[in-house]
Amino acid sequence: MIQAKGYAAQSPETDLALWDFERREVGAHDVQLEIQFCGVCHSDLHQIKNDWFKGIFPMVPGHEIVGKVVKVGNHVKGFKVGDLAGVGCMVDSCQVCENCKEGLEQYCLDGNTQTYNGLDRTGVPTYGGYSNTIVVREEFVLHISEKLSLAATAPLLCAGITTYSPLRHWKVGKGHKLAVLGLGGLGHMAVKFGVAFGAEVTVLSTSPSKEAAAKALGAHHFVVTSDKKQSDAVKNTFDFIIDTVSAEHDMDFYLGMLRVNGVHICVGIPPEKLKIHPFALLGNRRSVAGSGIGGIKETQEMLDYCAEHNIVSDIEMIDIKDITNAYARMLKGDVRYRFVIDIATL
Ligand code: NAP
Ligand code: ZN
Repeated sequence: MIQAKGYAAQSPETDLALWDFERREVGAHDVQLEIQFCGVCHSDLHQIKNDWFKGIFPMVPGHEIVGKVVKVGNHVKGFKVGDLAGVGCMVDSCQVCENCKEGLEQYCLDGNTQTYNGLDRTGVPTYGGYSNTIVVREEFVLHISEKLSLAATAPLLCAGITTYSPLRHWKVGKGHKLAVLGLGGLGHMAVKFGVAFGAEVTVLSTSPSKEAAAKALGAHHFVVTSDKKQSDAVKNTFDFIIDTVSAEHDMDFYLGMLRVNGVHICVGIPPEKLKIHPFALLGNRRSVAGSGIGGIKETQEMLDYCAEHNIVSDIEMIDIKDITNAYARMLKGDVRYRFVIDIATL
């Protein structure tokens, strides 16, 4: 076994702390990374706190992983020692079902294996990127360009693909009015992609202080949702809302901002169920949809697109010992716009 160290939550009630654990040996089809940076996703906090379901503890979170390849198995063809590489939210899937064959491993009919807080296909718990090293089968390792800042690339592995994938699926672009609901890690990437794809982008935010930053990210308009005059002015206007909100919110209020045939795309995962009155949907023949991360092929496509168009995340780098404070700030919506852990501080 490979000796690894990381930051783990021993239970939902305890702060993360240093923890030594083991990774599997590098198999014939595996790639081992030395992790250099890992993004901090709101999903990390949801899972530590058992917001969605009972987690597997100790839990080493982290699914926005970038680093250097330090070892490859005998049958690995696509990576060599020294390459930059990344790992996102999944580390395995059945690879044979119709969804996997279509490159939609996130919807694997046998269930994908999550990078942490999951069990691998032999029943062993998976541990994420708040750690110094990880071993992953080649098919789930991504190529990372040398052109971009490595630390600022890390959040593309979750926040990036989770917003890129639905915008591509619904072909959001020129001629569309896109609203980005919630300007956090996912939201700020949705703004960047929406603008890059040619949409007219409005940020819907609870934080008036984010206006200047939203405009600097490329957003064309900014609406403070608690301001009645501002929110009334955007009723019946958007073709799409991409909803990145991590907490309970009034769906009917936001649905009212969609024009005829508008689509409200849920990517945020609040702990509570969504409540929607049918009137909010049938009024303008509106739809509510959802989207989960993205498949491996599309994640590579997104990374290549970002390298070509010089798109990275806006980050605040932190020491791993400051993770508890970072979570507290994230809960208050006080992140500009993604914390990234410098794993050298582990
Ligand atoms: P984040 O950085 O904390 O951003 C969430 C933003 O939502 C906040 O910055 C805030 O923006 C807004 N917000 C928070 N509470 C709100 C409330 N009660 N009402 C309205 N707006 C509120 O989180 P993130 O990392 O981007 O993740 C967002 C959500 O996506 C999480 O639930 C996460 O688990 C989920 N997620 C889903 C997938 C997927 O595959 N679908 C993948 C990754 C993450 P303002 O200050 O602008 O209002
Ligand atoms: Zn995530």
